[in-house]
Amino acid sequence: MSRTSVVVVGGGISGLAAAWELSGGEHGPNDSTPRVEVIEASDRLGGSLATTQFAGRTIDLGADGFLARRPEAVALVKELGLSEDLEAIDASGAWLWSRGALHELPSGLVLGVPTDLQAILHFKGLSWKARLAARRDVLWPKRMIIGDDASIGQIVHTKLGREISYQFIEPMIGGIQAGRIDELSAKSVVPALFDAAKRGGSLMKALRTPSAASTGTQSDAGSTDPVFYSLRDGVGSLPRELATRLRDRGVVLRRGVSVNALRRTPAGDYPWEVDTLTTTTPANAVILATPAPVVGALLGSFDPVIDELRQIESAGAAMVTLAVANAEISLPPHGTGVLVPLKTSWAGEGSMIVTAITFLDRKWPRLRRGDNVILRAHVGRSDDNRWLDMTDEELTLRVRNELAVLLPRFGDPFESLVQRWPLGLPQYSVGHESRVQRARESSAKFSVALAGNAYDGVGIPASIGSGRRAARKVLEMMSQ
Ligand SMILES: Cc1cc2nc3c(=O)[nH]c(=O)nc-3n(C[C@H](O)[C@H](O)[C@H](O)COP(=O)(O)OP(=O)(O)OC[C@H]3O[C@@H](n4cnc5c(N)ncnc54)[C@H](O)[C@@H]3O)c2cc1C
Repeated sequence: MSRTSVVVVGGGISGLAAAWELSGGEHGPNDSTPRVEVIEASDRLGGSLATTQFAGRTIDLGADGFLARRPEAVALVKELGLSEDLEAIDASGAWLWSRGALHELPSGLVLGVPTDLQAILHFKGLSWKARLAARRDVLWPKRMIIGDDASIGQIVHTKLGREISYQFIEPMIGGIQAGRIDELSAKSVVPALFDAAKRGGSLMKALRTPSAASTGTQSDAGSTDPVFYSLRDGVGSLPRELATRLRDRGVVLRRGVSVNALRRTPAGDYPWEVDTLTTTTPANAVILATPAPVVGALLGSFDPVIDELRQIESAGAAMVTLAVANAEISLPPHGTGVLVPLKTSWAGEGSMIVTAITFLDRKWPRLRRGDNVILRAHVGRSDDNRWLDMTDEELTLRVRNELAVLLPRFGDPFESLVQRWPLGLPQYSVGHESRVQRARESSAKFSVALAGNAYDGVGIPASIGSGRRAARKVLEMMSQ
């Protein structure tokens, strides 16, 4: 019998992780390992993970760290023999721009929600009315009925009021997804928050449980385990290393070719033919590790349930990285950066465009230099694409002017870089989980598995996990 064949469409970290698992994972290939071909549309593997040279350092252009508590990324790094390259985050805490000043975020945040009443009562970044709303949640929690899913906004708005929701929680949770809490599904984006709200009673109290805290982004009190990791040559080195190992295993990696059709050929040895403009690859099974609308376009004609995946829209974001001489800048005394609520007023036209600032060389020791600092301004939300209409020069100037307000002192950067991710972050709207489940069940009937950040979480660990699970599913389907 001819050798089995699997095509992976999309060479981001999910597609590459899928290829790693298909080619034997930790143990490497064996006699039953299928032929694996990864097809990537752009001329670079890695998708949202990439590095470049900037101000004498290697920096990440996209994601710059991954959660340490979720096992998938750390496990893959170890399997690749790169444990020595893991770099733990070297700063904690952050600042919120609120009421015209910087305020250090209080202790006890879980998923961006305050759980320590005393800390929030003393937090000057919120009005006294908002702080009383937190007190009310602890003493006289509001009741709410929750069905199969709800938006994050619905829950936190009901429980903690408008100001805490939009000035405090949205910059944290919405910032990670580049989305709006009123649109994002609580069940899919912050399941611990959804579960806590379902249980009823005080949200703040419910989130104090260890299981909720362990899914949060804050360090447990007293724990010295790192919360985030990067890699010595940047997170963008992970897909590069992975690609090298995959080639050593005989996996075919193709770049600069887009898959434009999947054709069923049930009568032949291989039930699928995967088409690019110039080639056709026969396959027993296909893993689609592309953005969800591409899955809808390639496979939607087989079942309307799969076509619905086109509805998973993505938000764009831009990041402006700046290098500034020490003499030209003053930062808050510690912390990883600053969060800026949406609609923060701005002396110029409209509201502020910057949603967050990351102090890159505070986070990652390898980026530190004696005489200058590098920081990154994040721009863009699902409903704020103003950056798309700006040239790089206009965007950099606007960001510099806003940083001059947001930071204690900000002078002339000596180097700058704009990186745009027009469709970088999928938006999990209310009902996401059931939409994904239906599409998965349907595509499995055609020996197609879905992987990537559009389904089970947008972070790197979740993306790696989804790629590897898709591969195991396909191997299982082919062995039946
Ligand atoms: C600006 C930004 C910052 C982020 N920061 C963090 C962070 O700090 N920590 C964290 O954990 N996560 C972060 N993320 C999220 C994380 O980086 C991504 O979710 C993850 O890398 C997604 O990987 P993926 O393989 O699922 O998708 P992608 O990286 O999007 O890869 C999909 C690939 O499919 C290819 N493709 C599309 N159509 C076709 C086709 N027809 N044929 C062939 N190929 C096709 C695309 O070219 C692309 O390379 C960030 C994301 C962005 C955009």
